Amino acid sequence: MNKLLTYMNLASRYAEGLGELPIAIYLREQHRILERVINGEEYIAATYYVPNEILSQFDIPVLYIERISGFGAANKLLGNIDIKRQYLGMPSCSCTYQIYYEGLIDECYIPHPSRIIASSFACDDAWWYCNKMSQRYKTDIYLIDVFRSNSEEAELYISKQLYELDSILKINYKTVRSLDSIIEQSNEGLEIKAKIDSVRKNNPGILDSNTALKLFPLYNDLGKPYANEIMQTLYDLLLIKAAHYEPENKIRLIWLGMIPLYYNNLIKDIEERYNCRIVYEELFQYPNKHIDKRNIYHSISKRIMNTHFFTMQQRMRDIIEYIDTYNVDGIIHFSQKNCRFLPPMLPLVYSELSEYKIPIVDINGDVADPSGFSDTIWDKLDAFFEILNRRKKDVSRNVDCREHRINQA
Ligand code: SF4
Repeated sequence: MNKLLTYMNLASRYAEGLGELPIAIYLREQHRILERVINGEEYIAATYYVPNEILSQFDIPVLYIERISGFGAANKLLGNIDIKRQYLGMPSCSCTYQIYYEGLIDECYIPHPSRIIASSFACDDAWWYCNKMSQRYKTDIYLIDVFRSNSEEAELYISKQLYELDSILKINYKTVRSLDSIIEQSNEGLEIKAKIDSVRKNNPGILDSNTALKLFPLYNDLGKPYANEIMQTLYDLLLIKAAHYEPENKIRLIWLGMIPLYYNNLIKDIEERYNCRIVYEELFQYPNKHIDKRNIYHSISKRIMNTHFFTMQQRMRDIIEYIDTYNVDGIIHFSQKNCRFLPPMLPLVYSELSEYKIPIVDINGDVADPSGFSDTIWDKLDAFFEILNRRKKDVSRNVDCREHRINQA
């Protein structure tokens, strides 16, 4: 029996037993897809921002690389990552997400993909890895080159590629769902997500960030009925909770970046140890941009260009909005080792937020490799919360910051 499949099945049952229905449904669906792959069906490997709406039309399972690597890492399926890295011929600066995927193939947890679709946004490294993988396994590949500018040329450039990708897939696979119905589902999913966000805004801290961080890859499932089922279930549960919810008087934080996958309880441990609450996570922010059925490829490329991470300016605008909306006391940022995407933005985050006088702590480690996690993060967090507790007593700070923001507006 394939251990990855078994663990996924157990995790889904466990979540169900705990009453964590959205996560149980999510894992059940992932299990169903993985089972098809392990039972010998051809599959497509894709990177995070490859739009699922296009892929969902066809009768072929799709594994998103970061997602399946994440499951592997959460279950610690590979041994020493550094040894694995050398053995697999990956550069010493490579991200463990890619090492994990390669390792899962190498250890026969999953077969080689029959086709790869990679987007250069968000992660150039994943793009590079997909290129290597296609050469090594002689696999067909389609590379979506995302031009990082908010220009009409960029939109046209991306949409042409999406159209081309769609045409290639139509030639190669049987269509089982119409793009129109997928778009309807996708737009409906975004509407439910907006309602979830609204409940969260009105009830800061109502959703456990652990749940949000487990569910954020649902972005890759927009257009699938099961994604809407999960979001509707989550929304319904939040509404029930909201009827009696009183936000606790605790330090409020937002979480930037990822979270170690092998340390499920990190957020809970931080919240208990420092009597604080994480009230929002940037990874679970989806662009509230519906797809126009009359102009599908343009619309999808616009959505990509409206994602939180598309430009540094967009990301900063969003972060400032979270600070205001949730009246946040501080920010925890997790820097993934060897990630060339988010950690290099950190100096800019510090400088852009300096006028807001919001304390930020950067804890670093490796989301997939437990040996990359150091206990020194607790020393950093101790010092950070000491500052926050001191500032919490100084009510005038909030007044100053608010005034400043109002003047800026
Ligand atoms: S952690 Fe960074 S380098 Fe690794 S897959 Fe994600 S964006 Fe790419």
